[in-house]
Amino acid sequence: MSTHVCRVKTFWMTVLLVVCADAARGGQAVKRVCEVARPRTYPAGGPRSSDVIMRSLRLHVRNDKDPHDTMQALKDFHVTRLEWAYVTNKAFIEKVKASGRVFGGAASAPSYLHKRNDAKWFEKVVVLDLNGQPIIAPWKRTWNRTLWGCVNNPELERRYVEYLKGYINAGTQVMQRDEPGANESATHWGGCFCPHCMKAFREYLAKHTTATKRRELGIESIEAFDYAQHLRKQRAPVGDAFKKWDGGELKRLFVAFQTHATLEFHKRTRKAMDAHAGRRVPVSCNNGVHRWGPIQLCFDWAFGELSYGRTRPELIYQAMRAAAGHDRIQVITMPKKGDRKGLDQWQRRTRQTIATAYACGGFCMVPWDVYMPNNAPRYFGTPAQYADLFGFVRANAKVLEGYEDAAVAGKALNETRYGESPPVSLRNGTGEVRAFVRARPGQRDAPVVVHLVEWGKTSKPVTLALRTDAFFGDRPLAIKLLTPPTYDKSAHENADRTRNYAALSRTADLPSAAQGKFTVVQIPALDPWGILVVSP
Ligand SMILES: [Zn+2]
Repeated sequence: MSTHVCRVKTFWMTVLLVVCADAARGGQAVKRVCEVARPRTYPAGGPRSSDVIMRSLRLHVRNDKDPHDTMQALKDFHVTRLEWAYVTNKAFIEKVKASGRVFGGAASAPSYLHKRNDAKWFEKVVVLDLNGQPIIAPWKRTWNRTLWGCVNNPELERRYVEYLKGYINAGTQVMQRDEPGANESATHWGGCFCPHCMKAFREYLAKHTTATKRRELGIESIEAFDYAQHLRKQRAPVGDAFKKWDGGELKRLFVAFQTHATLEFHKRTRKAMDAHAGRRVPVSCNNGVHRWGPIQLCFDWAFGELSYGRTRPELIYQAMRAAAGHDRIQVITMPKKGDRKGLDQWQRRTRQTIATAYACGGFCMVPWDVYMPNNAPRYFGTPAQYADLFGFVRANAKVLEGYEDAAVAGKALNETRYGESPPVSLRNGTGEVRAFVRARPGQRDAPVVVHLVEWGKTSKPVTLALRTDAFFGDRPLAIKLLTPPTYDKSAHENADRTRNYAALSRTADLPSAAQGKFTVVQIPALDPWGILVVSP
């Protein structure tokens, strides 16, 4: 007997067992997917589920030798939002907006307007270690002197607000704040112990601790207390080693103080920017894909950079679910790595990441002008590599928007919301397909979608069993498969020109077989994404 026949046989035996187990339960009411999908609130001004987001660190074309062109890339990849761009060129911003796209500027820990004639500007606002030396963020230490500004420094705040106002004047609609951790992050590198921080920490301790507690902590007089001096006396480590040093309760209070200070800085500076703009300016932050602490939660949605080694479908799903749990949105980047080995595999994993991010209700940015670790060159993908997927997103707004997570299936995706009767199960064999079921919350007749993403090194057909009554009760299912057609330059140019993306998605009716309580369909090999539209 061939292994294939054997696999098919095992599959039908599994189906039979499930059917029998179900009959034994006396056919109690089955949860429908539209009941499990939860309605949620989306952040105002954030991306919608069928948006395509791209970054351009700086504006291209930069010079005669620059092969890249930001405006052309926006068209090539069907981009609807250019975000996290350090571009303040008013005419360009106008051009992006006039083309019907959203423009979003960028700010980070070094964002500060300094006077050209002020040679000492850096020393005036940089975070300082215990020896009073400037701290450089670890990944920037090989760069030319870069600033990590102290949020407790009034001069930094004044110049940072000027910077934000400059973006409003240039016409930005939204903003992205990179490195939002600011002074909280600096505690990991042994800072900030500048005089402004020491004064603010004194005030924080006076407000948040009792006199008895302070005596316990070894603080004789709060008015004269200087934490930096206190630490130097204790010979506390300077720099990065401070992170792991056990500084007891006082250190914990110091870190809590810097978190609080960072949070308050963002609140104040956003308020100042909003007042200048005369509207609430939506602002996202970089949350490293998984962080949703108090600092990240004071922003409207988040971007996160994915590392190549950690890119797995279950982690992407968890990240999107975590964001949804906070009524936020998670945008991720392509999987990043610091070398150019295995380019085909890298491209494949990037395509899988894009498909999975959207399949889970999130976003993956267009792989264009992407920062890479270890100061590797920035990555610029081509339309032939990736535009089919983004065109597919634009073509399928109807089955992306308004849909919420209802079920998952596949390796390492553990579905627990339906007891022993999950709505979909995969017969993958040695394949690596994952399924993400999404439904319109509470809408019992609306089509349900099942995103299928191939995570294997090669694409293989797969069998999918849908538990019929979990979809539309006792009604049989009609099933269509949507897939992105192979990239065709003229079809994409035409779609961009007309903003009609229908040609960038292919529809096939899939024959299905009713088998007991299941509807079974054969899914062809995917490259790497297909969307099943299941209707009553
Ligand atoms: Zn400071």
